[in-house]
Formats: sequence, C-alpha cells, structure tokens
Amino acid sequence: MKTYNEYLKRIDEVDGRIRAFVHIDREAIHEEARRAKQGFLAGVPVAIKDNLCVRGEPTTCASRILAGFRPPYDAKVVEKLRASGALLFGKVNMDEFAFGSSCETSCYGPTRNPWDTGRIPGGSSGGSAAAVSSGEVPMALGSDTGGSIRQPAALCGVVGLKPTYGVVSRYGLIAFASSLDQIGPITKNVADAARLLTVIAGHDERDSTSVERKGTDYTKALIKDVRGLTIGIPKEYFIAGIDPDVDRAVKKAIQCLRDCGAHTVDISLPHSRYAVSCYYIIAPAEASSNLGRYDGVQYGLRGDESRGMIDMYSDTRTRGFGAEAKRRILLGTFSLSSGYYDAYYLKALKVRTKITEDFTNAFKQCDVIITPTTPTAAFKIGERVNDPLRMYLSDIFTIPANLAGIPGISVPCGFTGEHLPVGMQILGKHFDEETLFRAAYTFEQNTDHHLKEPPL
Ligand code: GLN
Repeated sequence: MKTYNEYLKRIDEVDGRIRAFVHIDREAIHEEARRAKQGFLAGVPVAIKDNLCVRGEPTTCASRILAGFRPPYDAKVVEKLRASGALLFGKVNMDEFAFGSSCETSCYGPTRNPWDTGRIPGGSSGGSAAAVSSGEVPMALGSDTGGSIRQPAALCGVVGLKPTYGVVSRYGLIAFASSLDQIGPITKNVADAARLLTVIAGHDERDSTSVERKGTDYTKALIKDVRGLTIGIPKEYFIAGIDPDVDRAVKKAIQCLRDCGAHTVDISLPHSRYAVSCYYIIAPAEASSNLGRYDGVQYGLRGDESRGMIDMYSDTRTRGFGAEAKRRILLGTFSLSSGYYDAYYLKALKVRTKITEDFTNAFKQCDVIITPTTPTAAFKIGERVNDPLRMYLSDIFTIPANLAGIPGISVPCGFTGEHLPVGMQILGKHFDEETLFRAAYTFEQNTDHHLKEPPL
C-alpha cells in the first residue's frame, strides 16, 4: 500500500484537474500520522463527504448556507474511524445537501470524472468517488439517499455500498431525507468496502434508527465462491432506453457469475416504474422539513438583519440555498401542505410499501438481484443541469433499494465504447450484506475491471 505521504502527493498532482477536495488540512494530517497508529485501519487515509461532521473542520454540505460552519463534534462514523486508526483525509465535494446526481449543484463547482474530465463524476457523493478513482485516497465515506453512493461509484469505476437502513449510525450526518439516508463506503475494491463497513457499522443509541445487532466482521464474507447462489434478473431493469454498452457489460457480468456456478432466475419488480415519482414526493418532503433549521440564527450564513427577524430569515435562505435546494424545499412544502398531503405524500407512502413488497416477494425466489447501477455511463458537464427530470432519471435503478431499505453494492463491470466505466448493482435482503460481498468479491476476483486506472 502507498504511504499517506504518497497519497498527499497524488492529491497535489491531480486534484487541480479533479477538484474532489473542498477542504484538506495537511498539518493536521501530519500531526495525526505522527501518533503511533493501531487498529483495523491503522494509517489508512479516508476522505469524508462534506455532509459528515468532523470536529473543528469546515462542514458545509457544499452549500453557501453553511459557510463557515465548523461542528463542535464528530459524526459517529468519524469517531469510529478515528478509533480504528484511520487518517481523516479532508472533506470531499458533493451536490448541495446531497441533492443531485452530478456534483454540479455544489457551491464549489463540479468535481470532474477522472476517466474524462469533461464529464461529471456522478453524485451526490461525486467527490468521494472521484477521489478514490483517481488514487487520491484508497477509501472514502459517502451517503446514499437515492443512489448517491452507488451511482458515482459506477460512473467513476469504483466500488460503492449502501448498507441496509439501520446498519450505520447517521449521528452527525447532516440529514437530507431521514427515512432513506444511509452512510456507506466507496473504495477501489470489494475487500476494502468490507473492511470499511466493518469499522463503521454498529448500534448507536444517538441514532434511534440504528439497529441493535452484534458487531459483524464483513471481511469473513469475502468468499470466492457463488456455487448454489440464485441471482434474480428483473425484467423491468433491462429495457429500451438504457445504453446498449451498459446493457452488454452487465449481461456479460451476469454470465461470468453463471460460469462461476450461480443460477439465474427471471423475476419481476412490477412497481419499480413508480419508484422515481414516489421518491420525488417522499425525499423532498423530508428534505423541506430537515432544511427548516437553516435560518441564519445558529450556524452558517446570516442574512441582512437591519429589517428585522423575518426578513433576516428570508434573506439568509434566499442567498444561502442554490436553485436545486430551493426546488426541493418548494416541492416538499407543497406535497406536505394541507389538502395535498393525502393526494401526494400519503399516496407515495403506499406506493413505497408496494415497492418493498415487490422485493420481499422476489427474494422468495432468489438470494440477490442484479441490475445495471445506472442507465448510462457518465454524462458531460452541463448536459443535464437544465433538465431536472433527465437528471432525476439517473437514479432510476438505485432509488428502489432506498425506498425498501435493502442493501445494494455497485461494482465495476466493464467499459463503454468511449472507455467510460460501467457499474453492476447487486441488491440483497435486509441485513444480508454478507451475500452481497460474496457475489461482488467472486465477480471481482474473476475479472480485472477494478485494476484499471483512469488516464490522468
Ligand atoms: N440523485 C438523487 C437525488 O438527487 C439521490 C441523491 C442521494 O442519494 N443523496 O435526490
């Protein structure tokens, strides 16, 4: 493994072109590194998405409204990383408040895809994925509300895991949609994802949704054997409209797992077609409520106070939030307002139940489900910024797992004709991350996609 100094050097060499980092304190890193390190991740650099609180370091969610905010405490996952001996390697870029699929809504400007710097890295954890892909860090933390770990991992050619809802404490994660948010690893390979999850998973009394389970060593699930495993192939996910290169790469990957002894079975997830609509009611509703706290009083930007408190609130929010954040606040406030609540929000909750039932039924027939992670490879910077609907459709294959709370991993599975990475998504039963690791690891060990480096 490279030394932490070599990683710092790599950041100096390439980050001017990638722009994954929004904050890095080299002195603090050297200082940390001088202390003797012990533990599961001793001395391993880990980059942190800018929506996770790190004590004393800028934590802004890539939003002007949190400018200057330095949290007085560590997120639970950060606390766990410190205890494992990991080196906290700065904060990385994201879409503002994690609203987006391209990193373009960040107040810092977009991060670039290491495979083609004219393209987006995906989002919202685009900085995390680009930093790992370009070799600036071996590991990063991301968060996933509708695909924000898996989608950028796929587009940057790295591994990204969204754990089961409840596996990782969100204490100190700045909330987007609390019934969907999960923190997870973005790494170069499957073994590192298992190592990082082992460190960050576990019950935390400060997050009431975190589940009480005994600690799991996920590295024990790194078994190169899928004989007897049944893979469900949902017909709704291999449809017209997906890039033929993506379709081909994922089907080839499924064949590889078959050659390794897995069986496949055709399944149906009939309510998946409603997932994006359902998500864009539920997620903005929760976001509009979570974002109510940014009023200029306690932290971050404060607007003009000369005309009284109400005007100060309004000025703070007008100047502090970007266009996409405002869109979500308006959408969410609308669907929660009286008279519309039943028609939109309550209806969406019912659809969410149907989507969850689809998975419960499907998992009676199979152990895991395989789909493309995204319908296309990385798109060009600027291509979708003015077309929110097309942007939202980037997450069509990842959103259902958040609605159902099940785990999903994206692993590199090939390249398009333009030499852009393609990701395969493996979904599993609640709390069955082990089987995901087993399938992903077997695939990875039989292929070499994860060994390819972007041409930087
Ligand atoms: N792209 C989706 C959205 O904009 C998902 C984002 C996420 O998972 N944080 O809501």
